[in-house]
Amino acid sequence: MSLASPCASHRGSSLQNEPEFLSIVQILEDQQANLMTTDVFDDALVRVRNYGEAAGISSEVLDLLMHANSLVQASLPVRMDDGSTKYFTGYRCRYNSTLGPTKGGIRFHPGVSMAEVQALALWMTIKCAVAGLPFGGGKGGVIVDPKALSPMELERLSRAYMRAMADVIAPQTDIPAPDVYTNARIMGWMMDEYEAITRTKAPAVITGKPVRLGGSLGRDDATGRGAFLCTQELARRRHLIPAETTVAVQGFGNGGYHAARLLQEAGYRIVAISDSRGGIYSPDCFDVASIFEIKQQSRRVQGVYCDQSVCELVAHETISNDELLALDVDVLIPAALGGVITKHNAGTIKAPYIVEIANGPIMSDADAILEKKGTIIIPDVLANAGGVTVSYFEWVQNLQGYKWSLNQVHERLGDVMTSAFSEVWDLAGEKGLSVRNAAYATALQRIGEAIDAQGTRDYFRQ
Ligand code: GLU
Repeated sequence: MSLASPCASHRGSSLQNEPEFLSIVQILEDQQANLMTTDVFDDALVRVRNYGEAAGISSEVLDLLMHANSLVQASLPVRMDDGSTKYFTGYRCRYNSTLGPTKGGIRFHPGVSMAEVQALALWMTIKCAVAGLPFGGGKGGVIVDPKALSPMELERLSRAYMRAMADVIAPQTDIPAPDVYTNARIMGWMMDEYEAITRTKAPAVITGKPVRLGGSLGRDDATGRGAFLCTQELARRRHLIPAETTVAVQGFGNGGYHAARLLQEAGYRIVAISDSRGGIYSPDCFDVASIFEIKQQSRRVQGVYCDQSVCELVAHETISNDELLALDVDVLIPAALGGVITKHNAGTIKAPYIVEIANGPIMSDADAILEKKGTIIIPDVLANAGGVTVSYFEWVQNLQGYKWSLNQVHERLGDVMTSAFSEVWDLAGEKGLSVRNAAYATALQRIGEAIDAQGTRDYFRQ
């Protein structure tokens, strides 16, 4: 493996042969803990209320969006390998279905809570509307440390989740997908369980499945690709030259890794990368594909370069996740935890541009501090919408029984992302709003018009 020119994107083409999905253990290792507090739902509601009022959205629409349509909590009994039974708590929230069936992932994490699931489902509602998809927002989760389960226990838990939620999940009702610590294989188990319950073939019931079970080509790197496309659009408008643009990526899971890889292939300088155990920084920049390959073996980003005796080739510093956030880089990409930038550390952020791949990495109280500094933030509801957009393509293909080529998926993802970006960016420019505010205004306008069309108090007064 050559690391002599770490900035060259010499490994790009070999990734065409990437496995359809990474091994469960590897995904579990890669994805990051989400440390959201129970305030996270209140924080999400504050943003909707503030941005909605500023955009002139009626109080009736905003009141409606202060509550989830439905929230199911279930106890999931799982037979463990030693014969005992453990009970896990699972949630599924259908936040708002005005624009279509609810859509959103299922996360397996010890930090899952009812408040977090609702916040994430609300953000899915906004995200689908920003991207112009015919979906409402939903989300699910199980309170579990999946790393502590055997593969068979993980399968039983996944099937137990679907058995508990099969009354609310359906191809035209609520369509799950992967999220933190879940992956294509888990979606495959859940689909199989759903089909066994309903005695039908129903691939459109879940997205992000293995390609052989009806998954879409291009779903695996869609979140990272969407964020990459947003960064390109941002660079075009701000006249950033890739070869002179430094990027720090916090989190090396599915979204962070693919975004970093695509940015490097386009010539950007990836100078810092981290995972849950810490990060590495080199002003000379890194070769992302090599780090990924070595991380597959060592399971951690820190020490990657030393493990393979290349410390001498690429001088680097080890840094903490907090230090990564405060680096003097051009583009900061938080792609790991929710709530990592708060009013306490917002003052330390130096990057003039932030592209949010994680859901909710910046709390609302940090927005004002960053805005004052002039930081331009491409918000999660736009920047990470690539995943749900290709999920939409997968659902459409499943309903049509017709498979798209990878080129078709990439082309259509490009269309959706660039037009969503332009609409939001232009509105921000016209009205003097932050990009996040403009994204929420766009989404709330669309949802509001649909709610009005169903009949509101004003409508009945006329
Ligand atoms: N979990 C992803 C998200 O937060 C994808 C959801 C989906 O594909 O439905 O956007």
